[in-house]
Amino acid sequence: MRYLVLSDLHANLEAFDAVMAAVSRDDYDQSLILGDIVGYGADPNAVVDRVRALAPDVAIRGNHDKVASGMESADGFNQAAKYAAMWTLDQLSPENRDYLASLPPGPLEIDDVLQICHGSPDDEDEYIFEPVDAVEALRGLSRPLCMFGHTHVPIGYWLSVSEFDLIVPDMTCVTRIELAPGRRYMVNPGSVGQPRDGDPRAAYAIVDTDALAVTLYRVDYDVAAAQQKILEARLPEGLARRLGLGK
Ligand code: ZN
Repeated sequence: MRYLVLSDLHANLEAFDAVMAAVSRDDYDQSLILGDIVGYGADPNAVVDRVRALAPDVAIRGNHDKVASGMESADGFNQAAKYAAMWTLDQLSPENRDYLASLPPGPLEIDDVLQICHGSPDDEDEYIFEPVDAVEALRGLSRPLCMFGHTHVPIGYWLSVSEFDLIVPDMTCVTRIELAPGRRYMVNPGSVGQPRDGDPRAAYAIVDTDALAVTLYRVDYDVAAAQQKILEARLPEGLARRLGLGK
């Protein structure tokens, strides 16, 4: 089975549209969303509408989806994130708010090879930035591969009985990660709508559980248009700036 894996769309319509234009329907069998459909960006309703039209086979919630749908307080958020979440809550149509509130938490097992989560398999809100946290997560996996999001940084980690290593994608080209027997993998596809690895291009992945491979892609989108909408919506200026920096 081939899965299109999208994470951290963050209400960025231009980025989401560019990804869907870059992917052919023949490239995947099912689509999976790892959470944070909204938050930060200026098009929460349009992006939720597009997600609902895509009808992903499985979508799980992210921390921003919980706050922006009114399920959870924004206490843990920084000022800009909190402001954007409150603005999003106010903007969302009742149907779209209900859709976000109905998303299940991760982790979820997709097939015999793949499971997904937003933050980590143990805690949907936990950030996996450090190798020590990745090792901890890898030890607890119920499948050989876990696709995760939340950090907005494309990366892979793997663990065998005696070895651990990182896979840092070369983003000048498409990165293909072949899953070796005897190893477990945690792979982050990166963020569609707010990349933070210094590359402003939208990120996504295709997982092939028959070929045992994860392929990471980047695609250019109209960053200036997304920035302009953020400014016009009077969302914090820094949210527009960071899209240009990919930070
Ligand atoms: Zn996010």
